[in-house]
Amino acid sequence: MAPSKPDATTSLHVAVIGAGAAGLVAARELRREGHSVVVLERGSQIGGVWAYTSQVEPDPLSVDPTRPVVHSSLYRSLRTNIPRECMGFTDFPFATRPHDGSRDPRRHPGHSEVLAYLQDFAKEFDIEEMIRFDTEVVKAEPAAAAEENSRKWRVESRSSDGVAADEMYDAVVVCNGHYTEPRHALIAGIDSWPGKQIHSHNYRVPDPFKDQVVIVIGSSASGVDISRDIAKVAKEVHVSSRSTSPETYEKLPGYDNLWLHPTIETACEDGSVVFQNGKTVYADTIMHCTGYKYYFPFLDTKGEVTVDDNRVGPLYKHVFPPALAPGLSFIGLPWQITPFPMFELQSKWVSAVLSGRVSLPSQDEMMEDAKAFYDKLETLGIPKRYTHLMPDDSQFEYDNWLADQCDYPRIEKWREQMFYIGFKRIYAQSATYRDNWDDDHLIVEAYDDFVKFMS
Ligand code: FAD
Repeated sequence: MAPSKPDATTSLHVAVIGAGAAGLVAARELRREGHSVVVLERGSQIGGVWAYTSQVEPDPLSVDPTRPVVHSSLYRSLRTNIPRECMGFTDFPFATRPHDGSRDPRRHPGHSEVLAYLQDFAKEFDIEEMIRFDTEVVKAEPAAAAEENSRKWRVESRSSDGVAADEMYDAVVVCNGHYTEPRHALIAGIDSWPGKQIHSHNYRVPDPFKDQVVIVIGSSASGVDISRDIAKVAKEVHVSSRSTSPETYEKLPGYDNLWLHPTIETACEDGSVVFQNGKTVYADTIMHCTGYKYYFPFLDTKGEVTVDDNRVGPLYKHVFPPALAPGLSFIGLPWQITPFPMFELQSKWVSAVLSGRVSLPSQDEMMEDAKAFYDKLETLGIPKRYTHLMPDDSQFEYDNWLADQCDYPRIEKWREQMFYIGFKRIYAQSATYRDNWDDDHLIVEAYDDFVKFMS
């Protein structure tokens, strides 16, 4: 069955859920395409994860489903792990402003510079006038056939002062982010282990870990940063990584209190933790830097979209659920990518599909495509939880596929190269990659390109 396709030039009434980077650019693209847009944002400002707060959740592991949710997972010392030139939207350069003392000119700036960039973006394109702040979407579902004969969406929201709204939209674009609902490591014996546990979602500053022995589980971006942040004040920090060999036991260069281990074998009642390499550590705290879950508590698709071991699916090209396309779409699910340009291209595609300027394949064809992708992952032995991970070339192949759909220029070669080189630098020089680099030639190319967007 072919998905319902709006007539060319159709202008729809669209709800965007969330005003982070994805929601902002989605709103801009939808309006450019002629749609009327309402952005519903639970918080009181734009920026999503980039709106740093010192506030944390009362439950340090964030397992209590009734807890008050703090959206941002940023720590105070966070600087971007992607060079700014390739991180920004394609037509709104995230360029340095050398003469403006109020801004952070570094190539890998602190989080407040990213927020300031997003604020500039929102201002430049008058995006705030489309946003309803302090408004949480509590339900989004396809309207019952009896209520509407077309495929409308019912969106229920609640404002912070308790006012509820129940509205109809032609389409819903989900941009609620996926770095707020923690995933935890499963550790044998942890229930009787007497120490403290915390997820990196609730980590802000190292001070509470002064003189402690801390185990940090996870060695990707947050694990690397947080273990080094804590090592400045802690007695010892032991990083447990599942991507190292079982015998690993290394003191990390540049530190005399930071060690790398493989995974944890067991945690014991006497406060000890035994690693796979046979080493035992008596620790005060275990910090889970173990990532996040996709979570859409407001979304009721009657089973058409599920989250199974962190696979949101079935989805055509990580965006449209075949049975509900084009009325429901997701922006921003892929990871290990340079997010803003991808959000922009996904948003252009969604906007053009909704207006009817670009067509989708039939529902059956989209489903076949999604199934073929899932079968390929299975054949390669890739677990479901990596469905939206885009390693190596795949992110730019995907970006360029999106660009081709919308007749938009493909990703610049310098941006691709800068991302790859930057990514390798993170692993090769994890303590210094933000301040030492050797790709100045790519910076020059980037700024040559930026000229056309900077007046
Ligand atoms: P978010 O920024 O999370 O925004 C989602 C918005 O939806 C929020 O404002 C939230 O309040 C709102 N919302 C959620 N639920 C509801 C609801 N029910 N109703 C209404 N509103 C709702 N990316 C980079 O490019 N470079 C980096 O260096 C980098 N470092 C990172 C470091 C950390 C620690 C983390 C966690 C992420 C990092 N990222 C980085 C990735 C970052 O998540 C993306 O850059 C991007 O900002 C995500 O934008 P988003 O709009 O998808 O989600």
